[in-house]
Amino acid sequence: MKIRYRLLLAITLTVGLSSVAVHYASTEPIKNSFRLLETERAEEDVLRVSQAFVKMQDDLHTKSADWANSDDSYEFMSSGNKEFRNSKLQRNAIEQLRVSGILLFNSKMQLKASTVLPSVAYNNSSIPSHVQSELQKKDVVAHLENKREGIVGLIEVGKRPMMLSVRGIHKSTGDGVRRGWIVFLRAVDDTVILELGEVSRQKARILPFVNSVQSSDSEQEGDLLKNRRTVHLAEISPSEIEGSSVVRDIHDEPILTIKTRLLRRISAEGMRAINNINSNLLYIALFFCAVIVFVIEHFAVLRISNLITQLKRINGSSPSLRVELAGKDEVSALSDRINEMLSEIEGNTLELKRREEQLVLQNENLEQIVVERTQQIEYQAFHDKLTGLPNRALFSDRLRFAFDKMKRNHKGIATLFIDLDNFKVINDSLGHDMGDELLIAVTKVLTGSIRPGDTVARLGGDEFTILLEELHDFSEAEVIANRILTKFREPILLGNRETYAGGSIGIAFTEDPELSTETILKNADIAMYRAKAAGKSNYMVFDESMNEHALERLELETALRKAMDSGEIHVEYQPIIGLENNQVVGAEALARWTHPNRGQISPDLFIPIAEDTGLIFSIGYWVLEQACVNAKQWIQLPGLEEFVVCVNLSGKQIQRSDVVEQVHAVLEKTGLPPHHLKLEITESILIEDREGVVAKMEQLKNLGVKLALDDFGTGYSSLSTLRSFPIDTLKIDRAFVNQLGHDDSSLAIVQAILALAHTMKMDVVGEGVENSYQEGIIRELGCQNGQGYHYDKPLSAENITTRFTQNSQTLGLDAA
Ligand code: C2E
Ligand code: CA
Ligand code: CA
Repeated sequence: MKIRYRLLLAITLTVGLSSVAVHYASTEPIKNSFRLLETERAEEDVLRVSQAFVKMQDDLHTKSADWANSDDSYEFMSSGNKEFRNSKLQRNAIEQLRVSGILLFNSKMQLKASTVLPSVAYNNSSIPSHVQSELQKKDVVAHLENKREGIVGLIEVGKRPMMLSVRGIHKSTGDGVRRGWIVFLRAVDDTVILELGEVSRQKARILPFVNSVQSSDSEQEGDLLKNRRTVHLAEISPSEIEGSSVVRDIHDEPILTIKTRLLRRISAEGMRAINNINSNLLYIALFFCAVIVFVIEHFAVLRISNLITQLKRINGSSPSLRVELAGKDEVSALSDRINEMLSEIEGNTLELKRREEQLVLQNENLEQIVVERTQQIEYQAFHDKLTGLPNRALFSDRLRFAFDKMKRNHKGIATLFIDLDNFKVINDSLGHDMGDELLIAVTKVLTGSIRPGDTVARLGGDEFTILLEELHDFSEAEVIANRILTKFREPILLGNRETYAGGSIGIAFTEDPELSTETILKNADIAMYRAKAAGKSNYMVFDESMNEHALERLELETALRKAMDSGEIHVEYQPIIGLENNQVVGAEALARWTHPNRGQISPDLFIPIAEDTGLIFSIGYWVLEQACVNAKQWIQLPGLEEFVVCVNLSGKQIQRSDVVEQVHAVLEKTGLPPHHLKLEITESILIEDREGVVAKMEQLKNLGVKLALDDFGTGYSSLSTLRSFPIDTLKIDRAFVNQLGHDDSSLAIVQAILALAHTMKMDVVGEGVENSYQEGIIRELGCQNGQGYHYDKPLSAENITTRFTQNSQTLGLDAA
């Protein structure tokens, strides 16, 4: 609600309510005092009439006095003077006296003479007798006898009220005996009322008491009687007050009521005046209200409205505008304060704008950076950081794209999967920087070998892929593969060192657009493994039989999981012979798996599967345990006191954190002294996790166990690194021993290994000795021990125990 309307409402309510309050507060007491005045007046009026009525009775009594103390009357009573009767008791004489009748009684109260006006004489004879009987009443007689002045009052004669005056008749001198009674009567009639009106100047009514009782409120009358109150007042209408006065007869019984009426002029006039004043007051109040409203409207509301109108004009787009308001009051102070605030807001707005612009600028810069970074990240997400080649994600994308294209051009695509043969060795021996350089050099070789439009990608590590599109047959892919392999044969210069990358390539070719990208990549991978297995630095084209090979492997995997529990695995031992005296110095424990359907399965086949599946841990532990149990028996045989059992430890096993505890536990459990156990570790594991393995080897050595490096010569361990491993024995890979006599380089390698072992004070076992020629060469070159079919094939524990006991530890040679 607007202030204006609130104000109007408040003022209207205040004025309205206070007017009503003033009206009632002032009128009621005034009305009451008017009523008081009027009742006083009304009382006075009725009293005056009553007094006039009494006065009229007194007048009658005065008149009767003249007659009662006159000698004529006296005479008449004693002698019956005729003239008196004729002159004085005449009708006109009575009328002149203005009485209604004159009666004369003798002392015995017998009527002597009487004159009664016919107007009152309803029954002439009855009036005197009625009066007579009234006078003979006891109280009247008593009064008359005692009081000389007689009786004056009212009586009722024949239902008609009359004024009565009775006096004793005496001589005018006053002496002499009383000669009787004279009675003056005057009927209370219209003439009386007229006379009363004249005397009292008041209109009145005289009613018989009974009548008056009937006509007005009997309770009031009763009240009047009981309290002997002379006057009673009643408001018979809002404008009239009636005054009543009871008049009693000579017996003091009520006989008449005099009534006057007062028109309430004072009240009427007074109220008119009050109403006048009140309405004038109301006008004045309304005028004041109008003035107040005007003042507030003009000096406050209008000014505030003006301020609001001005403020509405001011918004964000016009921050420099100000409000203007003349004068010096609270509203102008408010407008000043608003202007101050507007100034502050303007300042803030400008500052805000400046900051906003700054922000926009910064945002633009940021967006630019984000765009650049996004591009960078996108590039990084799809490219190999080192070589800049597309990564696996991008390659998959290109592959998918190529398949889509194939649906339209109906040509073939090929995927080449390239895995470097020597990368790990170079990386570990020459360091990561050299490894990186090698990868970059290989990238150059690959990108230089393809046609424009083909894709080379690096999947990670030393794995690369190539996508060749729009091929007519797979031979086009073979051309590229050959080109790459040729370039790989050329030396690559890393620093000042010449190295050879070497790589195995798998090729998967397809003309089937429905083949999945995963399948073609997987096929190329399988082919690459086959190429590696076939002797490295080679390529293979995928065919379905390779898939079968993979399937077979899966079957074996499933079967191997059950093999341990079903007792399909057992251990065989191949003796190791000291070449100096052809004595058994130890034996190598070799795991054997007899498949229920397929018979013997080569460890070369199932050990890698066991390694991949983690089954190697249970198999390896079990073999170790068996070997220790058996060795514990054998070392007690004569001549086998120095017997050492050799157990192969897979790379996976040695990498396990608890390998040392496990070996220790087995030794404890079986009771085999540790120096009777030798653990064989393949050379490649030394390269993969050098530091971890060295630590483990140190711990194993601390147990008192011996260590051998298996298949030595196939890996790339440099001679210098070999020094840091706590190794007791080198086992020359059987490939070299086997080649002795066929290949000069093998002889050189065996020679070098033995020379190295001598300087490092390690002993050497030549593996795979199949004939005496081979044995002869290694013996000549200073190899201490030999192992191979030339001495013994791997034998079951029972067989070997029999062999040891029968031959009393001699000798492979005899046995062979
Ligand atoms: P390896 O450690 O080099 O074991 C020697 C292998 O050479 C054995 O093959 C053995 O039967 C064979 N061999 C011995 N003398 C001759 C010979 O005169 N001529 C030829 N051609 N071969 C000979 P096997 O038993 O098939 O084992 C193959 C490989 O399986 C082992 O090579 C070893 O690396 C692995 N292996 C066998 N048993 C276990 C095992 O219990 N644990 C682990 N981790 N690997 C095992
Ligand atoms: Ca071995
Ligand atoms: Ca070996």
